[in-house]
Amino acid sequence: MINPSKNEERSDVFLPPSTIGILGGGQLGRMMALEAREMGYRVITLDPTEDSPCGQVADRQIVARFDSLQGAKQLAQSADVITYEFENIGVQVAELLENESTLPQGYTLLYKTQNRLREKKAIEQAGISVAPYRAVRCEEEVDSALHDLGYPVVLKTTEGGYDGKGQWVIRSPEEVHPIKKMLKNEGSKGMTWVMEAWVPFKHEISCIVARNARGECQPFPIAENIHQENILHLSVAPARISEEIRREATRTAVQLAESMQLIGLLAIEMFVLDDGMLYVNELAPRPHNSGHYTQQACLTSQFEQHIRAICNLPLGDVSIKQPTVMVNILGEHLADVLHKLPNMDPSFKVHLYGKAEVRPKRKMGHLNVVADDVHTAIEKIQSLHIWNMEAIQ
Ligand code: AMP
Repeated sequence: MINPSKNEERSDVFLPPSTIGILGGGQLGRMMALEAREMGYRVITLDPTEDSPCGQVADRQIVARFDSLQGAKQLAQSADVITYEFENIGVQVAELLENESTLPQGYTLLYKTQNRLREKKAIEQAGISVAPYRAVRCEEEVDSALHDLGYPVVLKTTEGGYDGKGQWVIRSPEEVHPIKKMLKNEGSKGMTWVMEAWVPFKHEISCIVARNARGECQPFPIAENIHQENILHLSVAPARISEEIRREATRTAVQLAESMQLIGLLAIEMFVLDDGMLYVNELAPRPHNSGHYTQQACLTSQFEQHIRAICNLPLGDVSIKQPTVMVNILGEHLADVLHKLPNMDPSFKVHLYGKAEVRPKRKMGHLNVVADDVHTAIEKIQSLHIWNMEAIQ
């Protein structure tokens, strides 16, 4: 006999061929769209640049600014369900998308992660530790924060910074002077900064966790992340950390996801200290560069999982099938990668984003390298002689 409850139609499930609207046409949108289309969904994206990386693989692109209410309305009217690939979405656009279509991820988590202070408070409210910090708005608060935190510290803008932009390391009293000057100029405009204690971390790691409306919560395996000049260079999966840290980092990710009633993906970047202590550094409510390894390592990639989560389908298997190391292809690496591509080892999977303009430090693509162990994968990347791998073991 057919079980009627199993056949019941659920209004919160979006089945193919529903149309998924993606706000933002960059590489994250592109990789979401590729997975969505493979699953039989239609995709429409909104981006100000014609023929955007996502627009190239979507059914259609609306060319409009991200703050255009008219563009957002068009997206809402064309899509059954909406998601985004970046977090700097204005409240009016988010409200319009929520009112005129369905935005399963909601606005609350976006709002928190748009601002470092709000984000840190939300992390602390979930019972998770962040590095010691103070909010600073003026010279006096700089002195008082330095008194509490000691040197060195990192000063960060509360909004809009990424890949180390909008950040200043202050190592000594001599370096405070120019910072105070900057604060004097900008502080009068009502700006607030976050001053953070410098964390002498042993590793940087991240965990991407997915959760859907039926309450399934699934953390991906932990990745170990190596940055160069504040830009992610390598993600190594599985991370070379103890079982205890792996368990604690995974537990932290699930606790954050549950506490924030996450729908979709949440990427959680963490610092690991020598004594095993973890501090959460940053959150991103979307697929993340440090999760690109999942495309080759896991049965379900972060992009497929995101689509499953927002459409309220069951979450996929995320265990690591093969150790994988991801290396970013920045503008300065692209010509070399293309030159070497015709003779590249078959264990190298190349992902290029279709960006028209090549600029130094711009993320143009990535390579996922699979091997029996991560050490061999790193050696394979070294053998290409494209990246500066001097400090990397
Ligand atoms: P963020 O934009 O906060 O992710 O910072 C970019 C990078 O700067 C991080 O991935 C770290 O490598 C480094 N960083 C940021 N904050 C700190 C800190 N408090 N202590 C040490 N390194 C940091």
